[in-house]
Amino acid sequence: MALPGIGRRCADIVLSFVFGRDVIAVDTHVHRVCNRIGMTAAKTADRTAKQLEERTPEWAMRDGHFWLIQFGKAVCTARAPQCGTCPVADLCEFYVALPAGPVASTS
Ligand code: SF4
Repeated sequence: MALPGIGRRCADIVLSFVFGRDVIAVDTHVHRVCNRIGMTAAKTADRTAKQLEERTPEWAMRDGHFWLIQFGKAVCTARAPQCGTCPVADLCEFYVALPAGPVASTS
């Protein structure tokens, strides 16, 4: 089913917050974090949402939305990710692939 003018993100937010469904609504923070870390490999938020849907256990779907948004706002920010103090740096493809190496980037 599709509603004109309503994209996947809006639909997922309504499903999660209004109907209590287990979905991860992918906003810009979730999209950025998931693709930096390597949880997904997608150029669009809709593709990120699809990949997360396929890879995320049901128990983590609704809370995962909040975790990823908060992580993207507090640690893995758009312009200045806090890689030096990031608790998941050792799992992050972006961090490991930094040209100067992960250790040199932490200062
Ligand atoms: S290591 Fe850096 S880029 Fe990777 S998740 Fe942490 S803050 Fe984001």
